[in-house]
Amino acid sequence: MILSHTFEEYARIIKAFHGSTAPGLMIGGFMVDLAYRNLPEGGLYDVICETAKCLPDAVQLLTPCSIGNQWLRIIDTGRFALAFYDKNTGKGIRVYIDAPRLDAWPQIKGWFMKLTPKSGQDEARLMKEIEEAGSSLCSVETIEVSLDRMKKQKGGAIALCPSCGEPYPSLRGAICPACRGGILPYRSGPRKGNGTIIRDCIGK
Ligand SMILES: [Zn+2]
Repeated sequence: MILSHTFEEYARIIKAFHGSTAPGLMIGGFMVDLAYRNLPEGGLYDVICETAKCLPDAVQLLTPCSIGNQWLRIIDTGRFALAFYDKNTGKGIRVYIDAPRLDAWPQIKGWFMKLTPKSGQDEARLMKEIEEAGSSLCSVETIEVSLDRMKKQKGGAIALCPSCGEPYPSLRGAICPACRGGILPYRSGPRKGNGTIIRDCIGK
């Protein structure tokens, strides 16, 4: 079981949301389940996900925490790990892939460590191993999150950027971060962009 779902149910939910039953998402489900079993009930938890790949979707599908509500944040260390922590105290747990435990599961190890080329992967056997392994691939450690570093950006006043003319939170600086440069991989904005306005919404 993955929380209240059977393995098959969870696989269906994933497929509908993510487009495929990615192995990482299946393992991620067991990781969230393991976290829930190790957290005191009734707390209010935020989540930090240490990878942007797959794992955030498991959190969004199984918990009330999402990128949009900012109860889930990605701090990309590249490690396949999740931290759940109490919003008020910062105390929590971290669930991670315990590398030596992969040795018991050759299909999972081959896929996870990229030892097996994609063409040599046996999808059905890999899924079977993931189901059998469950959360036994993982370990749990206690953590304490520095809440100072997790402060959410408060909205504050909205200003019009003197460079592009678009509204943005004035706390972000004298001009918007896009105009300051180095963030977006494209040029944009009513005065800055070099594209063609396809449609303006006035009168539509
Ligand atoms: Zn701007």
